[in-house]
Amino acid sequence: MCDGEDVCNPDRVVSRCIEFDHYRWNGDMITSHIVDQLKECVDFIPVCAEMEMGLGVPRDPVRIVGGKGGEHLVQPATGRDVTDDMTRFAESFLDTLPHVDGFILKNKSPSCGMKEAKVYAGPEKGGSIGKTDGFFARSVLNRYPDMPVEDEGRLRNMRIRDHFLARLYTFSEFQTVQARGSMNALVRFHSENKLMLMAHSQKLQKEMGRMVANHDRLEPVIVLEQYKEQLTQALARAPRYTANINVFLHASGHFRNRLNHEEKAFFLEALEKYREGRVSICAPKNILKAWIVRFGEENLNNQTFFAPYPDQLMELDPLDMDRGRDLWT
Ligand code: SF4
Repeated sequence: MCDGEDVCNPDRVVSRCIEFDHYRWNGDMITSHIVDQLKECVDFIPVCAEMEMGLGVPRDPVRIVGGKGGEHLVQPATGRDVTDDMTRFAESFLDTLPHVDGFILKNKSPSCGMKEAKVYAGPEKGGSIGKTDGFFARSVLNRYPDMPVEDEGRLRNMRIRDHFLARLYTFSEFQTVQARGSMNALVRFHSENKLMLMAHSQKLQKEMGRMVANHDRLEPVIVLEQYKEQLTQALARAPRYTANINVFLHASGHFRNRLNHEEKAFFLEALEKYREGRVSICAPKNILKAWIVRFGEENLNNQTFFAPYPDQLMELDPLDMDRGRDLWT
């Protein structure tokens, strides 16, 4: 389990204009609470495709132009079509990239944006005609279809952030296990992630348990590769709230005979509020965490379900709190 002090330190690529350099077309830098917080526990590899392909800063902005000939990345002020330059840069950057665990990209950018980059009918002024992935982001998504890739805008949503961080830290921990090539390390990993996997998919969690048991006595390297495929599949989607509730009920069974009626009722009430969307997952989770500490419950103490990543990464952005945004929907 990663608690901020362990060696589990994911490597992640980030759009350089987020919290690293004033590289936006107009010389601006984007502030991002989550990227700023992550700097303490993640090794970032910042990159700015537009700068590194030679457009300089400040620069005339680029935009995506769509039409019969497909989508192109153009710089209206100069009339340049930089589609090939961008694609070449992106591919060569990704070719030489060391192992990474995820990407955080600038939202809405024609280069880095995911899904939300505007498409225009032509280089001249006029409203957008649709939205798509930026050109650098396309190369990333093609190259790493199963990797946690998010934009900094979506990470303001706590549910998306929770899923992204859980995937990031789980994969990072698994990479360490895979590098060791040890079945013992895999058994420990699977046992510590049992409840989290159960929340994602009970079916896959059981299948992965059979893999770890390795009745066919396969080589560890083969088991680890097969396990990785299942892990990728299991974590691809965030758990449904009903699945989380099942895990909470399962975990609370460990305390069945150690709680009084009021304590049980208090927990069930928190669970009901979570079911109705009136409180976040933190409410029932914190009650269980308190019981784990109080009773020294060894069977749950090491479960990543309760702390899949350092706690401080779920701290709210003070700016968002001021704006009174609903951060869970
Ligand atoms: S969005 Fe991407 S290409 Fe644009 S300034 Fe930021 S890092 Fe550079």
